[in-house]
Amino acid sequence: MSFKLVLPYFKEHFFKIASGIVILLTVDFFQLLIPYLTKKAIDVITYNKNDFNSVLKFGVIIVLSGLLITFLRYWWRIFLIGTSRHIEKGIRDNLFYSVMNFKADFFDRTKTGDIMARATSDITHVRMAFGIGITAFTDAILLGGATIGIMFYLNSRLALLALVPMPFIAISTKILGKKMHDYHSDAQKSFSDLMENMRESFLGIRIIRVFNFEKFINKKIDSYSLDYFEKSLKRAVITSAIRPLMILFLNLSLLIILFYGGFLVMEEKITSGDLVAFIQYLSLLAWPVMALGWMTNLMQRGLSSLKRIEEILNSGKSVYEKENRKEVIEKVENIRCENLMFSYEKNKFVLKNISFELKKGEVLGITGPPGSGKSTLAAIISGLYEPLSGKIEINNKDLKTIKIENLREKISYMPQESFIFSGTLKDNIVLGQKYDKEKLENALKMSCLESDIENMPDGLDTIVGERGVTLSGGQKQRTALARAFYKSGDIIVLDDPISQVDSNTARSLLENLKILCETKILIIISNRISAILNADKILVMENSEIKNSGSHEELIKESRFYKKSCQIQGLC
Ligand code: ADP
Ligand code: MG
Repeated sequence: MSFKLVLPYFKEHFFKIASGIVILLTVDFFQLLIPYLTKKAIDVITYNKNDFNSVLKFGVIIVLSGLLITFLRYWWRIFLIGTSRHIEKGIRDNLFYSVMNFKADFFDRTKTGDIMARATSDITHVRMAFGIGITAFTDAILLGGATIGIMFYLNSRLALLALVPMPFIAISTKILGKKMHDYHSDAQKSFSDLMENMRESFLGIRIIRVFNFEKFINKKIDSYSLDYFEKSLKRAVITSAIRPLMILFLNLSLLIILFYGGFLVMEEKITSGDLVAFIQYLSLLAWPVMALGWMTNLMQRGLSSLKRIEEILNSGKSVYEKENRKEVIEKVENIRCENLMFSYEKNKFVLKNISFELKKGEVLGITGPPGSGKSTLAAIISGLYEPLSGKIEINNKDLKTIKIENLREKISYMPQESFIFSGTLKDNIVLGQKYDKEKLENALKMSCLESDIENMPDGLDTIVGERGVTLSGGQKQRTALARAFYKSGDIIVLDDPISQVDSNTARSLLENLKILCETKILIIISNRISAILNADKILVMENSEIKNSGSHEELIKESRFYKKSCQIQGLC
């Protein structure tokens, strides 16, 4: 267990933490002072009946102390709880940026819900451990210790007896507190399951209706809902048991003080002021004793959450590992793949011995049955995954040595699934690049989107994505294409770019591509032979390998898959 994650924030906010603790101690001091002053006042009232001035003096000091406590309490909360919020924000930002930079394989083996849980409730636990936890610790030890000390100073036998119920308070807060936290996380988990299932049901409402799936879904949601209800109820029962139990134990202490203390007053062993002070100190002691039980739970939970966050941070590898990436490319002249091997899972190769070479101005077409590894190859060429063995070189430089920002700049990759962010159509195409009107118009023309945009309510400013106008499949695909054109890298990798457009649009798109790629390298994956038949070189992938390669004419003779595709599509 290391505190690497939180230590920097302690250093950064050292002054605030130190001030917070000093203020907290000052508050504690005045809290301890008030019962003592009360005792003095009552003693004056009981034994020097005419000394109103002293009573007034004590009264004024008590009120002023109360005011000061109110004022200072605000400040220690700002300093200590405020710092814990800084820690929370810092860890969350750190987690987000790190995860964003992780290599793609991390996302294949980690559930989004799991990352979300660590980014939300685990971070909250860490915050509470380091905010309230530290405060509770300081208070439990110092305020509790001082209170007990003063009680013993006033009368040690009475103090000893009054403290008998205290360990029960500490132990039961610890046990019940732990139970409460457990039930709380159970309920949280049940709640997120319920939410996730509801979300999915709304998302899939069309399918649910068409397949008459409602009854089944209702039942499923019902059971999740019941589960959440039961767990919340359990949590509520425990939560409501804690307070009355504490009050019971405190009242037991009070009983002891009243009986034995009253007896001591009658015997004139202590003054009546002492008795009142004792009762006040007892109520002061309640919080530190509870804090002792509560604090250990908070700390334990916070530390295990910290460990869970560290786990995520250590489980992914950043693509931005700088040491080995120093090369910079100006203009891409060629790309070469040599004996690429790749697998997502152990011993199950998705790519085997893939080799090819392309020069500026050349077009590579890739086709093959589903599952043959085409999309995986596209992702590897685009630098999303690293090959297990083999090499990819651009301008004779190993891909692994090229600065990642530089590499990303050179490659325009359009994945098979078009992802549309919620936002305007324009933002979806420009997507973080510098805005250039002419370039954008050109990209729209190239991707045959112009007439679609004319028919949209707000043109390029139309909101698309989750809540806005939903684009048709073909429009989504062409938006993704426009994105790749707008970025205009030297290597353009298009994974299945025309599967959802009609043949006329497809023809225009292909013509536009030809013009665009005169000075670039184009890799185009498609099972529509018309998209690849004019390519300089065509690969037919089958069972993770390049089964055949060559020109259109050669492949019609050599590849059964290719020939059959051509026949079905009326191309030979
Ligand atoms: P294609 O694009 O030719 O249809 P893919 O490259 O998408 O083929 O997939 C090749 C194989 O890799 C398939 O068997 C598929 O199930 C598997 N695969 C694809 N993506 C992943 C992934 N993220 N994790 C594990 N296996 C995957
Ligand atoms: Mg694919």
